[in-house]
Amino acid sequence: MGKNMTKCTSCGVEIAKTSKSCPKCGAQNEWVHPEIKRFHDNQKTFTKSFTAYHSPYELSIMDDNAGIGPMAFFVLFMLSLITLLLWSVFPDSWFCFLLFAVTAISAVYKFISMIYKLFTGRTVRQIVFNFHKNPPEYETNDEAYWEEVLVFFNFKDKKDGIRENSKEKSYLVM
Ligand SMILES: [Zn+2]
Repeated sequence: MGKNMTKCTSCGVEIAKTSKSCPKCGAQNEWVHPEIKRFHDNQKTFTKSFTAYHSPYELSIMDDNAGIGPMAFFVLFMLSLITLLLWSVFPDSWFCFLLFAVTAISAVYKFISMIYKLFTGRTVRQIVFNFHKNPPEYETNDEAYWEEVLVFFNFKDKKDGIRENSKEKSYLVM
């Protein structure tokens, strides 16, 4: 069997590892690169939570905190309304004014940074591994964030032969 071939788990005929389904019986090709399988088997051991997608040779991982931006803004916005109410009850209190000022400024800052991210595309931290390349390659828009995953795949120890693509590549996921 050629090294780019695998057996259909349904009918046993040889199919390409990259094919989506078996041309003979139509069953889905379940072959994935061993490193991707190893990743899925160990997914629970990572401290960060993320969502992973894969094709036979490509693994794409997205940070689950992507929704935290709008949530943080909403919380800050509500807090500034509450502190504004508090300040209106105690108009002479410097402390109440300070509370309102801090929450309102934070909410505005969060809002501006959300709009900025929307236009620059840096809304989601993502890393994509391509195991079809030898040596494998990865692309990410936040290398430091994915250090744990890079260590898992030994990318951190084997600096030789690992080619990095654009470090600052942006992904826009709406
Ligand atoms: Zn088949």
